[in-house]
Amino acid sequence: MLELAFFHHKAEKMSKCYCGQARPFETCCAPLIRGERIAATPELLMRSRFTAYHLGEAAYLLATWHPETRPSELDLSDSPAWHSLRIISSKTKKERGQVKFRAFYAQASSAESARSLGYLQEESLFLKEAGRWLYHSALSLESSH
Ligand SMILES: [Zn+2]
Repeated sequence: MLELAFFHHKAEKMSKCYCGQARPFETCCAPLIRGERIAATPELLMRSRFTAYHLGEAAYLLATWHPETRPSELDLSDSPAWHSLRIISSKTKKERGQVKFRAFYAQASSAESARSLGYLQEESLFLKEAGRWLYHSALSLESSH
């Protein structure tokens, strides 16, 4: 039984990208983060940026940030252990896109050693510049505590 559970866990890991899409990382977010392909929609950019946060790929996050709001540098050392992503809604109108999502992270509970998930919910604004979608800013933001 134990072996079977392990196999299922492994199979799920291999067939699902960090962003939650039902396809492997290698054909989902990896080509975007490596700069081999550009995100076709704001939602795909959002997903790849979540994966980049999960993996600590600061260079990709900066490269996909709109110049108007892009920080000069990005330090991810204090960033939480990002766990999973849920897209709530996404809409695109010409050069402007909005994606509402909930990003879950693992937080260490101080009372006991069990970990629980916290989340950040944001509606992000994406703008298309010279054919590329870029993250602009948060239109709304809320967190679990
Ligand atoms: Zn992905």
